[in-house]
Amino acid sequence: MTDPFYPPQSPIATGLACRCPRCGQGRLFSGYLELVAQCDICGLNLRDSDSGDGPAVFVIFALGFIVVPIALWVEARFQPPLWLHAVLWSCVILGGALALLRPFKGVMVALQYKHRGISDGS
Ligand SMILES: [Zn+2]
Repeated sequence: MTDPFYPPQSPIATGLACRCPRCGQGRLFSGYLELVAQCDICGLNLRDSDSGDGPAVFVIFALGFIVVPIALWVEARFQPPLWLHAVLWSCVILGGALALLRPFKGVMVALQYKHRGISDGS
């Protein structure tokens, strides 16, 4: 029996779309950050893939790179009270982290599949 051919997928595109890194069609997550055990379309075993703390580190760097200059600009331009800074940037950072963590984890899993390979269970 021959294995089906899957054309190479962009790890960035499949990761950001939260799709399977091999076929680009199946769902990658069963929960917010919980990976599916196996792709619904191609059967890729995702049980053993582990992105560790990588996505969180990249989210911290990305948000820091974006939020700190904006916070400094807001302070220089409008000089809001400190409580407003605390409320505003806490909400922005929390919302940004929740929004970015899932696609960043998808990209890390897709990069892991591309460069290290994930066992297909066969
Ligand atoms: Zn798949």
